Amino acid sequence: MQFKEIIGHSSLKDKLLNIAQSGRISHTQLFLGPEGSGNLALALAFAQYVNCLQPSTEDSCGNCSSCVKFQQIIHPDLHFTYPFTSPTKLSKELIEEWRAAIIDNPYISDFDWLQKINSESNKQLNITAEECRAVINGLGLKSYEAKYKVHVIWQPEYLSKEGNILLKLLEEPPPLTLILLVGNNTEKILPTILSRAQLVKVPKITDADLINALMAKYSMDEQKARDTARLADGNFNRAKSLIDIDHEGYFTLFSDWMRACYGQKMLELQPMVDTLSAGGREYIKNFLHYAGQMIRSAFIYRYAKQDLLKVNQTELAFLLKFSPFLHDQNLAEITKSLDDATYHVERNANLKILFLNLSLYIGKQLKTAQK
Ligand SMILES: [Zn+2]
Repeated sequence: MQFKEIIGHSSLKDKLLNIAQSGRISHTQLFLGPEGSGNLALALAFAQYVNCLQPSTEDSCGNCSSCVKFQQIIHPDLHFTYPFTSPTKLSKELIEEWRAAIIDNPYISDFDWLQKINSESNKQLNITAEECRAVINGLGLKSYEAKYKVHVIWQPEYLSKEGNILLKLLEEPPPLTLILLVGNNTEKILPTILSRAQLVKVPKITDADLINALMAKYSMDEQKARDTARLADGNFNRAKSLIDIDHEGYFTLFSDWMRACYGQKMLELQPMVDTLSAGGREYIKNFLHYAGQMIRSAFIYRYAKQDLLKVNQTELAFLLKFSPFLHDQNLAEITKSLDDATYHVERNANLKILFLNLSLYIGKQLKTAQK
């Protein structure tokens, strides 16, 4: 991965280049950023840069023997730990799947990864104690050829207290070894691990950078790129899944759904639930995200400055009629119910039952007056 392949983040790239060129590189770093921000891509580009044989001031060369191996994720001094569902396997046993997954999409989420390795089951992801011991043993060996041996630990959120096995290693890895943690959420990472890593904060991708990337990579027209970027909310992974989505279709479905929820008419809800569950899990996740954005927008429309709104004219006309039904109490309840629903969609819940319950709950909330 070269820096130039990564969307946006120009000032962060400069900062990483400066650190690499100064030679004052922290041995344990946490690339922390929300899903789809490119934190894994940036960690990989950084690892490739510090090992490049002919780096320029702006990027790795992409052609030397080290770069070629880094790009194909086959360098003998590049190692990975990632969560998976088997209690007995080690990460290296899944390296073929992992390599294919991140070359295909370096913005991959844990949900995508779970689907790639385990699409049928609802087992949970985990990083085991056995895996932690393997990391320590592996890094104890001499490097083959690289200047810096690199171990990427993706999603340290999945390390339970067994992660404490790694503390000594994180505090003092062997010389010329870099441990790059790549995570999304500090609240789910062991504090003992957090305190031992230098933080590299990766913000979400700006709308402007995302719009440019969508237009360049997928030849999108500007309006569609704008609609997609708005819904993606700085998450390139989500933007990719939205490429074939018809934005107008989402709006129609959402406005019909809210009317049916409010009316609590089971007969009207049923065909909508059928349409949604036929769309599949990714479609529903995106739809729930869109619904959450619209509901927050309605709240902003009612209570805050309208220049904060990022909606188009059709949506604005709907918000005018819809916003009187929202207040701070039911807003909190409804957005929480949408987040909970997303969580359950990812975990193989029965989509029809889930949607029916969600619809009835939202309907009830919309009818609740402010206390
Ligand atoms: Zn190179």
